[in-house]
Amino acid sequence: MVKKEIDPETASQIKKELAELRTQLEIQKKTKKKQAKSKQVKPKKKPAKSKQVKPKKKPTKAQLEKAKKIAKAEREKAKKEAQAEKEKAEAEAKAKKEAAERTHEDDLEEQFSDEQIRNFQIEKMDMDKLTNKVCEIIADYEDNGMLQSDLWKKLKLNSRDGSRLALRLERRGLITREKILKKGRWTYKLIIEQAPIKLESLIDSPCLTCPVEQKCDFENAYPEPSPLHCQLIEDWVAVDFSKKKK
Ligand code: SF4
Repeated sequence: MVKKEIDPETASQIKKELAELRTQLEIQKKTKKKQAKSKQVKPKKKPAKSKQVKPKKKPTKAQLEKAKKIAKAEREKAKKEAQAEKEKAEAEAKAKKEAAERTHEDDLEEQFSDEQIRNFQIEKMDMDKLTNKVCEIIADYEDNGMLQSDLWKKLKLNSRDGSRLALRLERRGLITREKILKKGRWTYKLIIEQAPIKLESLIDSPCLTCPVEQKCDFENAYPEPSPLHCQLIEDWVAVDFSKKKK
């Protein structure tokens, strides 16, 4: 047999193709193995045995007592929670009411100290004169009081100065302020506490012409002169009072 000569280029080409064929065969084998594995079905788990239902035992006395205590504690807890809710709702309602009734004066009272209010000054004004004037005006309204806004208008004061002035008079015990609702807004009514002494009311005082005025003293015991047991004073007050009533 004559051995056929193959040229090197053809031999190399054949080797290459053989190598490719081997690679493809390997790939096909691996793919088949994988598919076979995935098809294997896993054995199903055995279903758990159904639990046997045991007959219920009657609760013991101790268990009943414990259950009672728990129920009581639950009731107490619910009661406390309801009370806390009620108190919270009341506090909220109160805060809401206070916010609705809040006035400019309430803000001022928080902004200034007691001393600042008591010593409040309006620029270029004689505060003693102004205080007397305000008290005289308010005193004319007696126990009915006067709306503070009317007073500010009368004195040509702005509401800021007026409000601080009212606070000053209240702190000094000369007036009281009463919060009222007027035309849907909360404001204050000013009521006199200590009416200023008017000079006219002293004109007829017996003390002005009393011969023992120098010796007269509140501390004196009878028969030493004292306003506490002075007939002249009693008569004068009685006459003055009857005049005012007319
Ligand atoms: S209180 Fe009577 S006694 Fe005394 S000074 Fe006056 S009037 Fe005179």
